[in-house]
Amino acid sequence: MAYDVIVVGARVAGAATAMLLARAGLRVLAVDRVAFPRDTVSSHQVQVPAVARLARWGVLDRLIAAGTPPARDVRFDSGRVVLAGRYPPVGGADALYSPRRTLLDAALLDAARSAGAEVRERFRVEELVWRDGVVAGVRGRCGRGAGVVAESARLVIGADGKHSFVAAAVGARVRRSAPVRTFAGYGYWSGVPLATGELYHRAGRVAAAFPTGDGLTVVYLASPLAELGAARHDLLAHHLAGLDHCGDLGARVRAGVLAERLRTTPDLPNVVRAGWGPGWALAGDAGAVMDPVTAQGIAHALADAESLAAAVVAGLGGARPLDPALAAWERQRDHRLRPMFDLTLRLAELRQRRIDHALFAALAQQPAEVGRFLGALAGIVPADRYFTPRVVLPLIGAAALRRLRA
Ligand SMILES: Cc1cc2nc3c(=O)[nH]c(=O)nc-3n(C[C@H](O)[C@H](O)[C@H](O)COP(=O)(O)OP(=O)(O)OC[C@H]3O[C@@H](n4cnc5c(N)ncnc54)[C@H](O)[C@@H]3O)c2cc1C
Repeated sequence: MAYDVIVVGARVAGAATAMLLARAGLRVLAVDRVAFPRDTVSSHQVQVPAVARLARWGVLDRLIAAGTPPARDVRFDSGRVVLAGRYPPVGGADALYSPRRTLLDAALLDAARSAGAEVRERFRVEELVWRDGVVAGVRGRCGRGAGVVAESARLVIGADGKHSFVAAAVGARVRRSAPVRTFAGYGYWSGVPLATGELYHRAGRVAAAFPTGDGLTVVYLASPLAELGAARHDLLAHHLAGLDHCGDLGARVRAGVLAERLRTTPDLPNVVRAGWGPGWALAGDAGAVMDPVTAQGIAHALADAESLAAAVVAGLGGARPLDPALAAWERQRDHRLRPMFDLTLRLAELRQRRIDHALFAALAQQPAEVGRFLGALAGIVPADRYFTPRVVLPLIGAAALRRLRA
């Protein structure tokens, strides 16, 4: 059978894209080399704009029904001041959620299936099919030893993650990249009750603690990549020592119980690739991946799914030719991505500049402003419209600026 679209990879980017395309009436095949529910190495703060999308798509209710608690209040601790506030609401959503990936990815994939997408699990794509220089399908197999199956489509979407097979096979140009700056460790703890979500920014550390399902707290720590060699001797000890620098978080975590093994990874590239070409497009991490220090990957994947699906529906439905629709989508993606990619690279340096401290101190005196600051960190307020002299200077005041310059 020929499909309109084959989506390679069926987690947040792929399942959401397949769901939206199928809801629009396209014939969609979504494949993944694994079977779901299946965990992946990723913590899972889902930022408010992505929560709004999940609500609109009818998926949020399932996450809530499965026991995923909201985090409406957030505490940002810079080491010198603590800022407490709420995220600005987006499209009716006013909380961050941290659903386990076993739950989130499966819920999206079920929604794709219910919308009419055909889903093939344990199917690994090994090759792309080309016709006259245009990608026209995939070849792959369901498990080792199984025969090779070819499937054809008018468009193949690579939603196959940061080491995307599709991106490599089409030779997607790297538009932007930066070296890996951090390594991440995260664990699930019981007995670490949280009143709110907690964010800690320190020189050489960023930590986050949020409630997830089953009464557990997911605690994340970013450390400089340069520390990995030494940390490897005892990753848990390094993780706990890092948390000890974060107010009383270390003590609270030590008093709790590690419910699952600590996950640690230095596989944190910062890359933006071309988003489309003849017969192909890339969604989520496959097209653009950034350090998880800002916890933006899922929000980016769902935003990609929505905007890419709209472009594909317009392009394949005849509203406009496909290539210009994809080109316009790519421009919009890059425009959306740039401020957060820049902020992420800066935060991944794990440095604190004097101007940052001045801003935090000023915000401590102006609690009504804290929500907008949290919104800029979370991708609700575009970072390039917040972290600018026009916004920051009036907040910190001329006198503080003179002291900084002295
Ligand atoms: C340590 C860490 C912490 C993170 N924390 C957060 C966070 O708190 N919040 C947040 O928003 N983001 C976070 N992220 C980022 C987030 O995990 C990613 O951005 C997100 O998973 C990207 O989703 P995706 O669907 O694009 O790709 P993936 O989740 O990587 O899914 C790709 C899928 O493609 C499949 N696949 C690959 N190759 C093939 C093939 N050849 N054939 C068939 N299938 C294939 C894979 O099996 C996989 O299921 C974190 C990442 C890391 C590493």
